[in-house]
Amino acid sequence: MIYLDNAATTLQKPPAVRRAVGQAMATMTSPGRGTYGPAARASRTLLACREAAAALFQAGPPENVVLTFNATHGLNIALNSLVKPGDRVVLSGYEHNAVTRPLAAVPDLRVRVVRAPLFRPDRFLEDFARQLDRGAEVAVCTHVSNVYGYVLPVEEVADLCRRRGVPLVVDAAQSAGVLPVTLSGWGAAFVAMPGHKGLYGPQGTGLLLCGGETQPLLYGGTGSQSRQREMPDFLPDRLEAGTHNVPGAAGLLEGLRFLRRRGLGTIQRQETALVAQAAQGLARLPGVQVFSGWQRGCQSGVLSFRLAGRDPGWVADALAQGGIAVRAGLHCAPLAHATGGTGDTGTVRVSFSTFNTPGEVDRFLKRMARLA
Ligand code: PMP
Repeated sequence: MIYLDNAATTLQKPPAVRRAVGQAMATMTSPGRGTYGPAARASRTLLACREAAAALFQAGPPENVVLTFNATHGLNIALNSLVKPGDRVVLSGYEHNAVTRPLAAVPDLRVRVVRAPLFRPDRFLEDFARQLDRGAEVAVCTHVSNVYGYVLPVEEVADLCRRRGVPLVVDAAQSAGVLPVTLSGWGAAFVAMPGHKGLYGPQGTGLLLCGGETQPLLYGGTGSQSRQREMPDFLPDRLEAGTHNVPGAAGLLEGLRFLRRRGLGTIQRQETALVAQAAQGLARLPGVQVFSGWQRGCQSGVLSFRLAGRDPGWVADALAQGGIAVRAGLHCAPLAHATGGTGDTGTVRVSFSTFNTPGEVDRFLKRMARLA
């Protein structure tokens, strides 16, 4: 199978990731609850995972790295910490349901969406600044759109927010492991990311980098301050109730080590080249509409397209019959589709990882040529 659905989760993992998950299941118990061998090993593994992430994402001390179940979990903690009923929230028009649904659950919010068109970072920044200047308690910006691969100018957005004293939440679900992501460099309140996509960890893992005040989302045992009725007031315990996904963290640690060895620059260049190859090939086919911004330097390893007269689901099924895995439809981001003008049918999406090759893109393009 040619797997081109890496924006959902990466399927091919470095072998060390798989080995670490198995070893953790065989040799580790719950961390922080005892000093016997298997508990101490688990504690050391979680700490090593936090340290590796804190170094890669410039998050300060390892305690600022909270282990979550996925990016959605981290975004829920972040928004629950910052947003109160009645607040004014500015967000990009490319947000995922992992942002818009938690916000929809808060009463009386005044949400302002930055709707600048696709692949126009200049217009986006102007509009973001304008919306912030109308007053805002919180801002949210995805780093890379999971629908279009559009790289938003998050560094400049962070600057706009910092100068106005507005706390910023960054959704790095599609950028972590590919583009530079930095908690301290951006001065963000939170950066949330999955462990199971670009970090090559197992499903059921994610990271939340915390740069400000936090509010627990889940309450329960932490193995610390057990006599106290309230959650501990220190990180990461404050946000990590219950038993950890230790095998997941062990695998994620190996994913982070793999990234350090391979280098984000290499991965980014590789994915951008695959996107350019796919976009150029698709643009030559009759009836294919491609959403591409790589020529302007603002697209990473995700690409959306449509075939005239065919539902995206039909295209994805036809590709699947040829052994090519892609995603079709609304990609859990109806807001991004509305902003990009694809809210009616959605799109077909291909998304790459460091394990994809130009040869695979060729085979995908040949199959698409027959369908077109
Ligand atoms: N935000 C974006 C931009 C995403 O692409 C995704 C995953 N599709 C999420 C959030 C949610 O990630 P997770 O599945 O790890 O909760």
